[in-house]
Amino acid sequence: MKTTRRQFLFAAGLMPLVGSTRAANRRVVVVGGGWGGLSAARHLRALAPDLEVVLIDRQPAFVSFALSNRWLVDAAAQGPERHDYATLAARWGYRFLQAEVSSIDRSAGIVIAGNERLSYDWLVIAPGIRENYAAWQLEDPAMIAELRRRHGGAMVNGADLPALKQRLASFKGGDLLMSIPPAPYRCPPAPYERAMLIAWWLKTRKIPGKLIIVDPNPIMPAFRSILLDRFKDQVTYFDHAKIHQIDPARQTVSTEIDDIHFDAALLCPPQQAADLIWQAGLIRNEEGGRPSGWAAQGAIDFRSSADERVFIIGDSSGMVSPAFGLYPKTGHVANRMGLAVAQQIATQATGREFPPLLPESVCHVLSNVEPDEQTLIETSYRQRGDGFLLQQVKQTRNPNPGGEDIVWAEAMYRDFLRP
Ligand SMILES: Cc1cc2nc3c(=O)[nH]c(=O)nc-3n(C[C@H](O)[C@H](O)[C@H](O)COP(=O)(O)OP(=O)(O)OC[C@H]3O[C@@H](n4cnc5c(N)ncnc54)[C@H](O)[C@@H]3O)c2cc1C
Repeated sequence: MKTTRRQFLFAAGLMPLVGSTRAANRRVVVVGGGWGGLSAARHLRALAPDLEVVLIDRQPAFVSFALSNRWLVDAAAQGPERHDYATLAARWGYRFLQAEVSSIDRSAGIVIAGNERLSYDWLVIAPGIRENYAAWQLEDPAMIAELRRRHGGAMVNGADLPALKQRLASFKGGDLLMSIPPAPYRCPPAPYERAMLIAWWLKTRKIPGKLIIVDPNPIMPAFRSILLDRFKDQVTYFDHAKIHQIDPARQTVSTEIDDIHFDAALLCPPQQAADLIWQAGLIRNEEGGRPSGWAAQGAIDFRSSADERVFIIGDSSGMVSPAFGLYPKTGHVANRMGLAVAQQIATQATGREFPPLLPESVCHVLSNVEPDEQTLIETSYRQRGDGFLLQQVKQTRNPNPGGEDIVWAEAMYRDFLRP
């Protein structure tokens, strides 16, 4: 195998090792500046001010997915929240490094980020998700990049949303295919909300197009009647339909039942934990040794089962309970995980104790338009006496929404974005 220049320099010890600059000489490196990483970094600085905190992300800015679906098709709607990391770092007192983390050497306690090797005392990894095009028999990185550019569903990176909005604006008719990833995937109601808004937009703008939804899951009940009845002229819905192949040249996906052609698409392949979790050897294996696709970490402390200095939070995280599987992959859960991990590191660093904290999630989903209606999905957790984790999901229909989604987003953003 060919050795890259970086691997050579690293092996030879020629890349600079950046040590902690704080008096206590203890450093937390946080990889990934999404909902999870930003929360961990901000709370760490508040709870353990003597620790140096370095946040690393390949992007220059955080772009939130929350409330983005309506904006994709409605010029009057509020656009996605965007914050430069440099500004956030100055606001909360952590250091930001814009770099690609190419690898983590856990035995040496070092993160390789761009040209820097950063040592750490604790490592918080929150790199989000990757899309598994290999499940659709597509392996060539150049072809995948081109497919994502022309037909990507913008589920991985909020910075891709403006390009998707432009693609939708230039859609003048024909078959618009939208695939939904098999569960678990990030923000379970988001694809259905998006589909409903696209159908509404096709109808109200009189665009001669059809939205073809290919869904391997059972349809979310809150959307059944609106997608299948109210927008029946705009929507063709294939349920329990699993895509097993895509032909980018012919613009066709193959399911067990049929081949489906598209003129334009929002392709959302199966999701997995981001590359870095695989590189760092932190994926959980199923019984029998097959990789589960998601990380192995504690259900409540989010500590890696392979390395006690490492925490994994946010959408990369895997199985937490035989009763319900994984936590829902929402920004709200990722944010609470960031706080929980910051508290644990602060306890280790300062001796200060905190009450136990379990995740929670609140989701205001637009489940009808004109008249607007929302469905509130509240997910909470409790631990039984024997430690077994239980999940409760409550859905409440709100036929007269009054901006509850915006109030929720503001409260969340005040925690890790706003001054
Ligand atoms: C359309 C849509 C709507 C949604 N709406 C809501 C909502 O209303 N409410 C809600 O709670 N959730 C919502 N979500 C879900 C929410 O966005 C995710 O759950 C959340 O982003 C997960 O946070 P995270 O920190 O795990 O990952 P991310 O937010 O994806 O952050 C990961 C970060 O890691 C960085 N990164 C990854 N690998 C590397 C590397 N090797 N080197 C450097 N940087 C790296 C990435 O650049 C990225 O910034 C929505 C999602 C979608 C797609």
